Amino acid sequence: MLEKIRVRFAPSPTGPLHIGGARSALFNYLLAKKTGGDFILRIEDTDLERSSPESEENIKQSLHWLGIEWNEGIDVGGPYGPYRQTERLDIYRKYVDQLLQQGLAYRCYCTEEEIAAEREMLMQKGELPRYLGKCRNLTPEQEAEYIKQGRKPVIRFRVPEDELIVIDDLVRGRVTFESNGIGDFVIVKSDGIPTYNFAVVIDDSSMHITHVIRGEEHLSNTPRQMLIYKALGLTPPKFAHISLILGKDRTKMSKRHGATSVVNYQEAGFLPEALVNYLALLGWSPEKEEEIFSMEQLIQEFSLDRVAKNPAVFDMDKLTWLNGYYIRESPVEKITDLAIPYLQKAKLIGQAVSEEEYQWLINVVGAIKHKVVSISEIPAYVKVFFPMEIKVEDEEAKTILAGEQVPIVAKTLLSKLEQCEELNPANVKKILKEITKELKLGGKQVYMPLRIALTGEMHGPELHDLITYIGLKEVRSRLAQTLPDVIK
Ligand code: GLU
Repeated sequence: MLEKIRVRFAPSPTGPLHIGGARSALFNYLLAKKTGGDFILRIEDTDLERSSPESEENIKQSLHWLGIEWNEGIDVGGPYGPYRQTERLDIYRKYVDQLLQQGLAYRCYCTEEEIAAEREMLMQKGELPRYLGKCRNLTPEQEAEYIKQGRKPVIRFRVPEDELIVIDDLVRGRVTFESNGIGDFVIVKSDGIPTYNFAVVIDDSSMHITHVIRGEEHLSNTPRQMLIYKALGLTPPKFAHISLILGKDRTKMSKRHGATSVVNYQEAGFLPEALVNYLALLGWSPEKEEEIFSMEQLIQEFSLDRVAKNPAVFDMDKLTWLNGYYIRESPVEKITDLAIPYLQKAKLIGQAVSEEEYQWLINVVGAIKHKVVSISEIPAYVKVFFPMEIKVEDEEAKTILAGEQVPIVAKTLLSKLEQCEELNPANVKKILKEITKELKLGGKQVYMPLRIALTGEMHGPELHDLITYIGLKEVRSRLAQTLPDVIK
């Protein structure tokens, strides 16, 4: 029987969830779901200074928002917990002791200044900065002396010499490293907290992780981790290092290129479906030419062998296009619900939304939904449906409004609306048609001046939607503002 796939997303809670992290989480999640495996969320918080509960919260919130749920990990628990590294210190200690006893790790008492000076010296010689092993073979007396001086040791891994470390990466193929370039690295800091490279090995092994899908920036950590697996007699998981995400200028995606965290996209009015779809295509290519994928479809289609080695360029236009697509395809109720906080923020509506107002909002949002590419744009599009002062500023618009047919068009509209039994888009559409017919005017001579008279603008929602949802009273009040001589 094939081994059950177990993957993990293991963020360090040192900031909000980055889109690169979200993509790693997504690929892991897709692989787990596709194969009926487990997806684990582990928090790697050994960097005490930079880790924060707020970041952890943000990461969890963003994953939930994207629809990436973990079936094992923080909050939900599981058989291999705890799932937060700072709660696993006892577990790591056992393995550190084993390495120390076997002479595969040692205490190093060098000061930060000494380490910095060594790095400097190596760099000046054009060599790789690394620890040269000053404390490798301390005698008990030397150690005692350092301790007497009050020095606090770190624990370093004793990197074997002349070893070739081979990684058969599922994305990058065979990658090799020479142990000589690595230098004995720290596995436990002077405060007793293990480093990432050590803790990650113990955790991936003891949590029975079978596949590690993570960003390419971790590729250079992998040989260190492989050495620890070997020293402890543990089997490493399979690795898949996915390429970096680049900005349009092909440098590593950073704040300079725009929003980098998932919450930024959430706040900017993107739908999680669009971001998930987009992130999946960022490095993975489907077999068919299709571009639209729901999470369910991604689970069906995803495979690691279609993940590209070359870097993926973040294309905001494409993400925006996908977002527009998902907005158009979503039920209007859903888009209205999502728009409400934005409408409140724009002070177009109050905090409490009555049932009647809600039904009206659904109509209004429905009238413009096909035009927007993000939820945050909705206030700007629906503004014209709310009572407003109309100002005609554009010169061309002023000329159109001054057309000689405009007074009779406006008057006819008002009188027809007054006689109309039920104001709805279909009836208003009919009325507008009748006006062109009865007055023998072209569509342009009717629709454009009315639009300008009712909104002050030359573009906007369909006129029949606008008239229906602002209602007769507001139509009259707007016409009175823009055509005062006609409407008294
Ligand atoms: N904690 C690491 C990070 O957030 C992840 C390391 C890994 O996936 O192995 O970058």
